[in-house]
Parts: sequence; structure tokens; C-alpha cells
Amino acid sequence: MSQIEFYDTRSRSQRPFVPLSPGKVGIYSCGPTVYAEQHVGNLRSRLFSDLLKRFLISEGFEVTHVINITDVGHLVSDADEGEDKMEAAARKAEQSASEIADHYTELWRQDGEAVNCLVPEHNPKATDHIPDQIELAEKLETEGYLYSIPDDGLYFDTSRFPSYAELAGLDLDGQSEGIRIGVTEGKRNPADFAVWKIAKKGEDKRLQEWDSPWGVGFPGWHLECSAMSVRYLGERFDIHTGGIDLATVHHTNEVAQSECGYGVHPWVGFWMHNEFLTLEGPGEDDDGGEKMSKSKGDVKTLSDLIDRGIDPMAFRYYFLQAHYRSQHAFSDKAIQDAAKGYKRLQRIAMALEEVEGEGDPEAQAPFAERFRDALADDLNAPEASAVLWKVARSDELAAVDRRDLLRRFDVVLGLRLGEASSAAADEEREQDPRIDDLLAERQAARAAKDWAKADQIRDDLKAEGIEIVDSSEGPRWRRSGD
Ligand code: AMP
Ligand code: ZN
Repeated sequence: MSQIEFYDTRSRSQRPFVPLSPGKVGIYSCGPTVYAEQHVGNLRSRLFSDLLKRFLISEGFEVTHVINITDVGHLVSDADEGEDKMEAAARKAEQSASEIADHYTELWRQDGEAVNCLVPEHNPKATDHIPDQIELAEKLETEGYLYSIPDDGLYFDTSRFPSYAELAGLDLDGQSEGIRIGVTEGKRNPADFAVWKIAKKGEDKRLQEWDSPWGVGFPGWHLECSAMSVRYLGERFDIHTGGIDLATVHHTNEVAQSECGYGVHPWVGFWMHNEFLTLEGPGEDDDGGEKMSKSKGDVKTLSDLIDRGIDPMAFRYYFLQAHYRSQHAFSDKAIQDAAKGYKRLQRIAMALEEVEGEGDPEAQAPFAERFRDALADDLNAPEASAVLWKVARSDELAAVDRRDLLRRFDVVLGLRLGEASSAAADEEREQDPRIDDLLAERQAARAAKDWAKADQIRDDLKAEGIEIVDSSEGPRWRRSGD
């Protein structure tokens, strides 16, 4: 068995994974900003951290997974200017910010359930942790990392943190025009960012604001993750995940706050970033697909897929077809193909569930090892899926061993294989009432000892590629050669 290795964005290398405390792993994943329904690009990010968690659990680790809910402070520009996304959505819907947050948090939770994501151990909301955030800002202020811009807020002086550029390999000189950071007047360095924003007075009174030593206002977007991770995982932890778009600003700023505030280095053992789910076709830069994003408009949600008759689990299956560090092109055809593939796999798994008896661990071992080693190699899900298919279709393995292996693999992949309740399986059973009828007819013939007729029906089905298998609930059928 090979060693577990993950790619770490900060060191730009794949390194052996060793947790801080033996047997335990803490993971923090940047979660949804709950001002709108999440799109399937966001869902990719969620599925990635879920696969990571499932794999580590299968390796025997006790995993504590934190996914935060951003319900304040994420401004429209992702920088320190513009309206708060939550406030904008709440005003538009004429609801309170917390109503909006609760609504979209619930949709996010339902999406996770529909694609079989494990429930995180902690799911903290930024607005429930304002005192924790103020406490961290006070620490940073005492240590001299912050300065104030009158009527604007409290800013982090990035020149005080020499390794600021390290995580994302930023060229800070090249940033002087302010890449995504707005050119706020009064900032000492273009990369400096708000830790606490002072609420502007006047008619545009904010819906969410809190008292603080720096005046009434709200936390900068990055502060919540630094403050909440320490509360649930301690001052240092093992793995931080998120989409690659977060590395340059959000995560870079989280590192600055946490390493300076708590005096730790490195704050996080592994930075693992998923690449984008993209829309097919050349993007703005002509370097492939364009990131699916709410601001660009053309997004798909899981409910869009469900409305079109696609099993949400087919999205999980589709997710596993690409390595998390590669872009994954999303299109109607891609998801339709995935739905077909998932259904085929589900059909095989369902048929194997009918097989009784005990498997042979020795025969299973080489396949189990190949599957596990693929995931130990920086979560190579496409390779693991290839092993899964090899087992599903194998002629050399006994049916009981195929059944056992699929069950084992599915604990990690979470595809709900062989579950009678899965939509694909139900649909498959209902779709062929003709075969069900023939099976019933054959049973009746057997009961009447009309062996010729029973054999005839069996042979006719066989000619169609349909095999009759015995199960505890009587005979069932499956497509052979799948
Ligand atoms: P948001 O709700 O916008 O804060 O994003 C939630 C998570 O989804 C973050 O980790 C983002 O980096 C990630 N994300 C956003 N768009 C995409 C995309 N098109 N593909 C993959 N991940 C994404
Ligand atoms: Zn975050």
C-alpha cells in the first residue's frame, strides 16, 4: 500500500500526508455565501471535500469537518467595496438578511443530502461568531498589524507579514494596479484588506451591523474563517479546502490573519483547492472553458438538473470522472452521459446485490489495493472509478467478490450503489414491466410443472441478454454482460 499524498497549494508540491495528531484530521472548507442558490460549480467544491473526508475516514482517521456559512461581509466585488451580497439579496426580496440566509442555507443542506454528502461536524454561521471575530481583530491590533482608515474601517497592513504572497505565489508588485482588490483611498499597500468595516451612516443603513471597539459595523469577509476555524479545530489544523478562486485573496488573507493573530506557522498543514467546473467553449482568455459563476449568469443548479429528470446522484457520478485539480467541463451532453453511465453501474450493482454467499478476500485484495492507492495518490477519483468499472464488468472475479468490492468502494465514493431506494434503480425496475410479466409467467409455468414453457421463457430472455437470478425474494432478472 502506498503512502497517502496530497497536493498542497502553498508548497506547490504533492507531499505525504501526516496529520498533526495521530489518527485525527481536522478539515475546514469554505462554504456557501447564502445569498442565492448554489450552482453545480459550488457543488463540485462540496463534493470534493466530501470525497476527501470519506477517503480519510476509510483510512481509519477520525475526521472533524467544518463547513462555514457566510451570511455577512462578502461584498459584491469580492474585495472591500460594493454592497454586501447578503444585504443586496435581502433588499431585493424585501426580507431580512437572516430570512434570506436561512432559506439558502436550507437549500444548500438539501443539495448536500441529495448528492449524499456527509453532514459536517460543525456548520457555523459567521453572524453567530461576531465576538470571536472581534477578539481576533483585537489581537491583531494589539500586535500592530492593523491601521484604521477614517469612516471606512480597520485594515490589515500586508507589508507587516513577509510571507503574505506565499500561498498563492502572488507577484505583489504586479498587483499595484490592484488585481481584484479595489483601490481604496488611504490603503498603505494595494493588497491590504479590511478586517472590520465601519457601517456608513445615512439612508442606506445596513440590515446587519454590530458594535465593536472601532465603531458600529461588520466583519471583513476573511475574518470569519480565521476566527471560526480556531474555535472548532484549534490554532493549527490539517487541511483547508476551497475552490481555486479563493486562493489569491480570501485564503491569502485568512493566512495573514491567523498566522499573525495566533503566532503560528504554518497555520494549515495542507491547502487543497479544487479547480473550476467550467462552461464548455472558449473562455475570456481563450484558454479553455469559463468558470461557472453566479455573476456571469449562465449557471445550473441541482434543481435545474432534477427538473430535467436527472438523478442528482448522477451529478456525483459525473463529479468523480475528473480529477479535482483539473477543470471539468459541464454541458447538457456531459451530464446526460453521466446519467446513463450511473444508471448502467447502478443496474450492475443492483443485480450483484441479489447474489448470496461469502466472498474471497484474497481474490478481492489486488482490486481493493488499486482502488485505495488511486485515492491515496492525491484523490485520483477517475483512476478509482476505472477500477470500480473494471470490477463491475469483470469476468475473472466471482459475482460475490464483485458485490463485496462494489460495496467497499461505495463507502468511499458515496454513489448509493445497489440501494433499492435509489431513483436509478427504481426507474430501472419499473421500466421493464414486460420482463416482469414474463418472469411471473415463468413462475406460474413452474408452479404448474410446465417445465417446457418455463424453459422456453428463460431461453427467450437469455436470447435478449437477460439473465434470471435467484434471490431471497424469489427470482429476479438482470441484464447479463453489463
Ligand atoms: P460561494 O458560495 O461563491 O462563496 O462559493 C462556494 C465555494 O464554491 C467556494 O469554495 C468557491 O471557490 C467554489 N466555487 C465557485 N464557483 C466554482 C466553480 N465554477 N467550480 C468549482 N468551484 C467553484
Ligand atoms: Zn473561508
